[in-house]
Amino acid sequence: MEECSPFNDNTIMHDVNCIFCKIATGIIPAEKVYENDEVLAFLDNTPVNKGHTLVIPKSHTTNIFTITREDLSAVMEAVRILAPRVKAATNAGGVNVIMNNDAPAGQVVFHSHTHIIPRFENDGFRHWHGGTYGEGEMGAIGAMIRAQN
Ligand code: 5GP
Ligand code: ZN
Repeated sequence: MEECSPFNDNTIMHDVNCIFCKIATGIIPAEKVYENDEVLAFLDNTPVNKGHTLVIPKSHTTNIFTITREDLSAVMEAVRILAPRVKAATNAGGVNVIMNNDAPAGQVVFHSHTHIIPRFENDGFRHWHGGTYGEGEMGAIGAMIRAQN
């Protein structure tokens, strides 16, 4: 990790081997659609649907398990601003807002990012299947989550 010139009072950290840090610093080009001091949004280059947008903090963290409260807030505020813009620009019927965290959850690029995916009726992008709980299982799992801290 290297420390870069901050745009404001926050220190922005970059990982020299990270592809999204290279986009954030302009080393690799991207189709940017929004930027402020804390975040950058650009088009995913292999989109689910055209207009699929990625919102990243400029400072390198890997995912939801390491992102700072401030960067997550800045990302989600940018998502709030951008979701209607992406929907309107693509004439989509809706959007999915998704963050994949760690490899089993589908994360491929280990720089925190949130997807805004424009959606259309019958576009083929599949939601999760609905699973089931056995007798007492939901309560047990709920208790295990509540016990974590
Ligand atoms: P993940 O599966 O990690 O949540 O999503 C990573 C996303 O980054 C993928 O959808 C992939 O298409 C996108 N991506 C990977 N490398 C690049 C790149 O160099 N440029 C752009 N614009 N998108 C990228
Ligand atoms: Zn990075």
